[in-house]
Amino acid sequence: MPSRERTFRTEAIVLRRKDFGEADRLLTLFTPEAGKIRVLAKGIRKPASRKAGHLELYTRSMLMLARGRDMDIITQAETLQSYRPLREDLLRSSYGSYCVELLDKFTPDHAENKPLYELLSRALGWLAETGDLALTTRYYELQLLSMVGYQPQLFQCVVGGETIVAEDQFFSPAEGGAVCPRCGQNRAGAFAMSLAALKVLRFMQSNPYEMLRDLALRPQVHAEAERILQRVIVYHLERQLKSVEFLKQVRRAG
Ligand SMILES: [Zn+2]
Repeated sequence: MPSRERTFRTEAIVLRRKDFGEADRLLTLFTPEAGKIRVLAKGIRKPASRKAGHLELYTRSMLMLARGRDMDIITQAETLQSYRPLREDLLRSSYGSYCVELLDKFTPDHAENKPLYELLSRALGWLAETGDLALTTRYYELQLLSMVGYQPQLFQCVVGGETIVAEDQFFSPAEGGAVCPRCGQNRAGAFAMSLAALKVLRFMQSNPYEMLRDLALRPQVHAEAERILQRVIVYHLERQLKSVEFLKQVRRAG
């Protein structure tokens, strides 16, 4: 039998926290090598806890863990990146919460996905700084969908295989992407997608994040891109995320 080390080191991002017992917390972490794991942070709610500041929501930290019988236990924690604006600004925090929940819902426990870890870590940095939270979030959604195996097909009609050309199209979440006007008319489950929205989605799907600053979106295209991606996400998860309603409330209030 391969021997398991009794302690191990990993980088991790805190996805979720839940109080446990008198002074402990259960944490859901996302890690580069072990994927999503649940661990115990003992004594973290005591005022003198030295780990507490390094295990805030969304924080990226370097951790030492001890293998436990039921659950691994954090023995040391050191912040690598705190993404502080995500905890200090309500709107940024709501977007952060949504992006983290999205990843949480699309990932099974213990499934390694390094590119996805990299994406989350970069996205939290973007959300801490961006002037266009919605656009940054659309970009993140598209990249995440690709990394979990649901990349929307935007270049060929998902029904008849025709090349998608520069005109208004349809979109079918169930069939996984763009549907050409010929196949999309009156097709159950397909809805209209404007040429402008198609272009934006294609641009975001095939360019690095740094290129987003070149995008100037009209509000209705922005809203359409959001609607399309929401329908894709809800189709795959078979439900709406909890953080979406909260995010909408915060946006209305702002
Ligand atoms: Zn077609």
